[in-house]
Amino acid sequence: MSDHPAEPIRYAVDLTDRLHHLVRVTLTVPADLAAAARVVLPVWTPGSYVVRDYVHHVQWIRATDADDTEVALTPDGTTAWRLPDDVTGPVTVTLELYANDLSVRTNHVDDHHALLIPAATFPYVEHGTDRPHLVHLPSQTDGHRTWSLLPPADDTPDTYVAEDRDHLIDSAFEVGDLPHVDYEVAGVPHMFVWAGHGGHPDLPQIAKDAAAIGEACVELFPGELPTDAYTFLCVGWDTGGGGLEHRDGAVLQMPIRTFQDDDLTSRFQSLVAHEYLHLWNVKRLVPAALVQPAYEHPTHTPSLWVAEGWTAYYDELLPTRAGVWTPRQLLDTLRDTWDRTETTPGALLQPLRQASHEAWTKHYIRDANTPNVMTDYYGHGSLVAWELDLRLRRADPSGDGLDAVFRLLWDRHAGSAAGYTEDDVLDAIAAVGGDDLAALIDARVDHAQRPVIDDDLLAAVGLEFAEAPNGRPVPTLGVQTTEDAQGVTFTSVLRDGPAWRAGITGGDRLVAIDGSTVATGELSRALLAAEPGQDVEVTVTRGPRLLRRIVTLDEPRPRRRLRALETTTLQARQVFERWTGHELSEL
Ligand SMILES: [Zn+2]
Repeated sequence: MSDHPAEPIRYAVDLTDRLHHLVRVTLTVPADLAAAARVVLPVWTPGSYVVRDYVHHVQWIRATDADDTEVALTPDGTTAWRLPDDVTGPVTVTLELYANDLSVRTNHVDDHHALLIPAATFPYVEHGTDRPHLVHLPSQTDGHRTWSLLPPADDTPDTYVAEDRDHLIDSAFEVGDLPHVDYEVAGVPHMFVWAGHGGHPDLPQIAKDAAAIGEACVELFPGELPTDAYTFLCVGWDTGGGGLEHRDGAVLQMPIRTFQDDDLTSRFQSLVAHEYLHLWNVKRLVPAALVQPAYEHPTHTPSLWVAEGWTAYYDELLPTRAGVWTPRQLLDTLRDTWDRTETTPGALLQPLRQASHEAWTKHYIRDANTPNVMTDYYGHGSLVAWELDLRLRRADPSGDGLDAVFRLLWDRHAGSAAGYTEDDVLDAIAAVGGDDLAALIDARVDHAQRPVIDDDLLAAVGLEFAEAPNGRPVPTLGVQTTEDAQGVTFTSVLRDGPAWRAGITGGDRLVAIDGSTVATGELSRALLAAEPGQDVEVTVTRGPRLLRRIVTLDEPRPRRRLRALETTTLQARQVFERWTGHELSEL
């Protein structure tokens, strides 16, 4: 025991060479921890379950003592270094990082901005992880400022304070002269920062929508907001999209043209809802395995069907309840997710709990055969959440459906040092909806099976699936495609589908159908010239080979749409309104 508080772990960031994507980080190892200290750079960042080996970006690393004399730094494993046993006094470890990888999980630094993901930036000191971690990060460029998800230090400018190592790893930084807007949710300050180059975001509208979505979250989880301040850091690039939740904020990535495009704007609103809901689900209501993750190795959990699947379900429902989305947008998005899961062979091979466990090696590392062996714990998980919600609302029309289960799980396990287990989730379902329903959901995620959402369940909220012919449906090849300037590539060929049966395989590039070349954007038109059941000759290249295969086209899936039943009961209309926040007549 000591009367003196432990010396904090200190970092300083130097952005002098940011134009060349270089960041210099200095870590001061306190004197009492220095002898034989092990310094570790994480291999992954929370929320993105794949080993990224950030050590790849370390250009060089060295250590010096208080007299600036070189201290030996011995590699210890792939991503760690050890100081000598006999070193005394504090030791400074300096490393240079190459930061030219723009995503929400990696560092990107240039003259415009500097996005720093702490897991990729700050090596931690073993045995010092419980101490406060201080980061000194001046912007160093006139007119630029630093945004941190950490609170600022009271006494030192440009310095930010993390309670411990895990708090630092969960708090991104952004630097630049960037458009931003303030807003409030439940009286708590929030900020949105746009780090896209151009793009002309309508900041007041973004703030209005994000605040409305935030208030919808507070209705889902009543009580005090579980943060003192919240910041969205949003980067923009020519393509791509995604988000990564942090303890008191999130990093988003969207195409720069997002705010001039209605579909992208809808995706952006859903992304805002998704990452914001993680403030509760994942960041404070935590799967047991993720409460104390190991940053040098993968940390597996079976619960991503709740952590991500339920979040994915609510990232469509909450914008609807907030009035940011229409109920039509909600239903069309649910239909699209339904169609995608129905046509993914992997949904009948990989159970959802297994998909969660295997996120590290399947979800984040894909190849052409992935759709045949993997199911998506986001989309598939959201459909299980939808089925559960509908079953609860049918059984108790005046109840709160899945909201009630979510709240119970929150009341029982939020902030718990043990997190929640799969049994805890089933217990909460059983408490609201009974043991049989808990057993049904257990089977849905433990076995490879699709959710069952039938006419009777839909009728409970006044809906039905109806054929919605919109032009002639396109006969199907059973492939997933990507298109670029060179043409169409069959990125994946679905198992036992028409192309699979004909001997076409993932990665083949399409040249022609029935002797006519098929250019970018022309595949649907080429297939419309044929009938289901008809044989067509498909010409592809596979590396240096030119191949012709006869493919018998399948019937297309019928186009369907969720719509209001022609006659509905008052009760069904009321349940729809409790579910979506809108009247059924708005459809
Ligand atoms: Zn998520």
